[in-house]
Amino acid sequence: MVQLSRRRLAGSLLAAPLAAGLAGTATARPADGVRRLPAVATRQIGRFRVTSISDGFIDLPYEVFTGIAADDLEAGARALHVHRPTGVRSSFTVWLIDDGERLVLVDTGTAGLAGEGSGRLPDALATLGVTPADIDAVILTHMHFDHISGLVAGDRRVFGDASLYVDRRDLAFFTHPAAAAAAPDLLASSFARAAKVAELYPDIQALDGGERELSPDLWTVDLSGHTPGHMGVRIADQGQSLLLVGDMLFHPAIHPASAAIGIAFEPDPAAARAMRERFFPKAAEEQALVAATHMPFPGTGRIVRDGGRYTWLPADWDYNG
Ligand SMILES: [Zn+2]
Repeated sequence: MVQLSRRRLAGSLLAAPLAAGLAGTATARPADGVRRLPAVATRQIGRFRVTSISDGFIDLPYEVFTGIAADDLEAGARALHVHRPTGVRSSFTVWLIDDGERLVLVDTGTAGLAGEGSGRLPDALATLGVTPADIDAVILTHMHFDHISGLVAGDRRVFGDASLYVDRRDLAFFTHPAAAAAAPDLLASSFARAAKVAELYPDIQALDGGERELSPDLWTVDLSGHTPGHMGVRIADQGQSLLLVGDMLFHPAIHPASAAIGIAFEPDPAAARAMRERFFPKAAEEQALVAATHMPFPGTGRIVRDGGRYTWLPADWDYNG
């Protein structure tokens, strides 16, 4: 009798939420829950666990790209089934690297300044159980606003204890009053945020280009062009490697097929193009696993040579990290 009662009790407990769900009562719709979930993807590179975190996205109008007519870019997007009336969708990915001892954040997202689709990093970190105080170092690929804004909340620094690294040329350019005054409107938010970052992080560490090992098996790599001191971060361990390349590739409808296409946010378009012309063949030749901020999330893949063209080959999803 007792056993039967227990079974009945269990049965009724199981049935209750199901019945409630079917009846469509006040329970949350699954789609609402999915929208609140952070988008993250983990990947193990030797002892490093790399978590790609989506800070969200923005649709970039076709007109904002340089080196191609807006109509031609729109037609290209249509051919790849990624056309939107609002432009091409640009992901914002931030990377959290755990080497077993330290947590390193590469870039910090938009803080919501790129529209309501963006600014998801803080919630994502909280869901992962990481507080801003847990972050030991922040490396900036460059000082465009969509990479640095998450450093600042109102008038205070978000990552109070973290060491902050940026290329010296980017720091000099984006905090130079004359450069700010001469800059087009598109860059105004980047100059304003960079000034705030410099004010709140007076201990910011400026790096002198080249390749530099910041911590064991983690290097910064010179990818200057998109901005004066644009850089990547390379990690390598146990025969595996990953190169975080920031803004070397914008979207599969654009890069790596054409090194000539840039974006109006680039202060020196010729330098940006020259770096892409060097980087795409090199990455293809090395079959390097790369991760790019704005490629479709999680933005990890390879540049491959397909006949006479370079194309983007997304990497397999790595479920277990
Ligand atoms: Zn960017």
